[in-house]
Amino acid sequence: MTATTVLPAIAATVDLSAIAHNVGVVAERAGAPVLAVVKADGYGHGAVQVGRAALAAGAQELGVAHLTEALALRRNGIDAHLTSWLHTPDTDFAAGIAAGVDLAVSSPRQLAAVVAAAAALGETATVTVKVDTGLGRSGVAADEWEQTARDLAAAQSGGAIRLRAAMCHLAFGDEPDHPLNGQQAARLDEAVADLARLGAAPEVVHIANSAAALTRPDLARDLVRSGIAVYGYSPIPSLGDFGLIPAMTLTAEVALIKRIPAGQGISYSHQWTAPHDTVVAVLPVGYADGVPRLLSGRFEVSIDGRRFPGVGRVCMDQLVVDLGPDGGGVAEGDRAVLFGATPDGQPRVPTATDWADTIGTIDYEIVSGIRGRAQRRYVGDTATPGTLGVRSD
Ligand SMILES: *Cc1c(COP(=O)(O)O)cnc(C)c1O
Repeated sequence: MTATTVLPAIAATVDLSAIAHNVGVVAERAGAPVLAVVKADGYGHGAVQVGRAALAAGAQELGVAHLTEALALRRNGIDAHLTSWLHTPDTDFAAGIAAGVDLAVSSPRQLAAVVAAAAALGETATVTVKVDTGLGRSGVAADEWEQTARDLAAAQSGGAIRLRAAMCHLAFGDEPDHPLNGQQAARLDEAVADLARLGAAPEVVHIANSAAALTRPDLARDLVRSGIAVYGYSPIPSLGDFGLIPAMTLTAEVALIKRIPAGQGISYSHQWTAPHDTVVAVLPVGYADGVPRLLSGRFEVSIDGRRFPGVGRVCMDQLVVDLGPDGGGVAEGDRAVLFGATPDGQPRVPTATDWADTIGTIDYEIVSGIRGRAQRRYVGDTATPGTLGVRSD
């Protein structure tokens, strides 16, 4: 093979110019700066590369769940404002303070642990308070709010912390007109007013996830926390794609092509039997790489702009597609698109959302679940959208 760029057998190609484009879409719709959420290794796209691309495209800051994720970004040279918001009693807050990570606390106990770590280091911790205004997940519980507010004010006046932000997360962001959205915002506004009365007003307030950023600019406050939209998926598919471009395209190289006689069963348990003589292709990708086994017999791939159905069980390492009696013009070594963005003017390729709809989940789970032998590679330049340049990192 003489191609200049040899793609891995399974390639998860991430277009950083799509990331840049999507950051712009979110910021414009929300009318507010973007905190790009790069938790879970950037929803499976690579937190460091996506983080850099998002910042270069104008995102103001980054956010992750675990502090370990934030520390990994710091180790990779990302020095932008960075918040982590999901901690346990064993979280190493001292490491977070030393790395300048904004620590979002969800209880008086977490705040006390941050204050103790700051005192031990002789430094001031940057803190966000995450308020449970109705999601019922992490965030300060209603009955602990008064205590938390008083402790925050005391810690700030004592120099242990700088209260940088107050945040909450919506339960029904993907239902723009749900009454709880406005109620959650009002509860956060009240919490901020409480803090102001105690002399500890936060510098910034944020509420919106991607769905709210795109549909409820009135909830934006000082910035919006956007994850899925940055990766190019509509958080509310029924309202369209908002002009977002999926950043990841998952492809696999055709490993083997073979003739199959009528009546031959395909893959474990012969879930599919060839109704006539046909030609099938084996793709070297399976559920261990993030293709859900539940998709067996319920998906298509795109090869050179033509669609071919997956047949038989999706296995751990391989799956089979039916090329039809004429073989569809496909050759071993061709690339099959499993899902991705459709290039301008080309026939539509399957999307992660198609997969999610088929098996009853959401595209978040599909893209963040690409793993195993899929190798990520990066194309696109955030400075000059649309260019193709493979990055080595
Ligand atoms: C994951 C997460 C987000 C991003 O949500 P999207 O729907 O992907 O935009 C925002 N805020 C918090 C607290 C999160 O955990």
